[in-house]
Amino acid sequence: MVLAEPGWADEQTDTVVALEDVSLTYNPDQGSNALENINLNLNEGEFVCLLGPSGCGKSTLLKIIAGFIAPSAGNVVMDGEPIKGADWHRGVVFQQPPLYPWLTTRENIQFGLRMRKIPENESRKLTEEYLKKVGLQEFGQSKPYELSGGMKQRVAIARALVNKPRVLLMDEPFGALDALTREQMQSLLRNIWWESRCTILFITHDVDEALAMGTRVLVMSRRPGRIVKEFKTAFTYAISGENSNRVRYTTLFLQAREEILELINQQEFSYNI
Ligand code: ADP
Repeated sequence: MVLAEPGWADEQTDTVVALEDVSLTYNPDQGSNALENINLNLNEGEFVCLLGPSGCGKSTLLKIIAGFIAPSAGNVVMDGEPIKGADWHRGVVFQQPPLYPWLTTRENIQFGLRMRKIPENESRKLTEEYLKKVGLQEFGQSKPYELSGGMKQRVAIARALVNKPRVLLMDEPFGALDALTREQMQSLLRNIWWESRCTILFITHDVDEALAMGTRVLVMSRRPGRIVKEFKTAFTYAISGENSNRVRYTTLFLQAREEILELINQQEFSYNI
């Protein structure tokens, strides 16, 4: 279903990550799958938002793509190669940013580059660049306990992006932030995505956020999680322009919101009695 005029990310692009018939069972003794027959392509430059009732397998799906867990069945490939473990080509950002408390903002951002043995002068240059991108130049020497929730999330985003990953996987990254900070972070992320054109998979429980950010919105069923419907969306382009928030009150946006909410509610309450 197409909900708005397409933008640049809707151009026909290459598939970066592909999932074929992916299923996952955490506990084979219990017999029930957390995920069942997931077929999904993430294409270059797309911003894909994943919605679904709590416990439907969104995080599990993200962890499989990240390479943290292997599927029980099916294939997961990136650029045609099987994903066998975590690597820096797929950056991950969680709701609670796991920053090293003893390192400064700058050191947290630089950490991955040092692990990858990127030459010090290059890694410093990259770190400064990303510190600036997320607007934390004045907080480079601060420790995580000195930062607000939004700032910590900026550090986490910079830390993932400084590696220039092809795919950014985000699990409810703004879920713990207040409404104002959340909107600022959405704007920051949208600009970064626009500039870097990296592929993003973004989990959220907030339909408005999915519609405001995504170029494609996927809705999952309750456990065992399957993808039940996908929506092509393009509100994110309009929101970047002037009078940005007006689009959120358009009939098209509100209709999309209602349809998706109804679909999620159906999943939530479709238990067999
Ligand atoms: P969501 O992100 O959509 O809330 P999850 O992917 O976290 O869902 O979980 C999907 C299902 O798998 C849930 O029923 C959850 O209880 C179960 N689950 C998640 N992680 C584990 C685990 N490590 N061991 C066993 N079951 C798990």
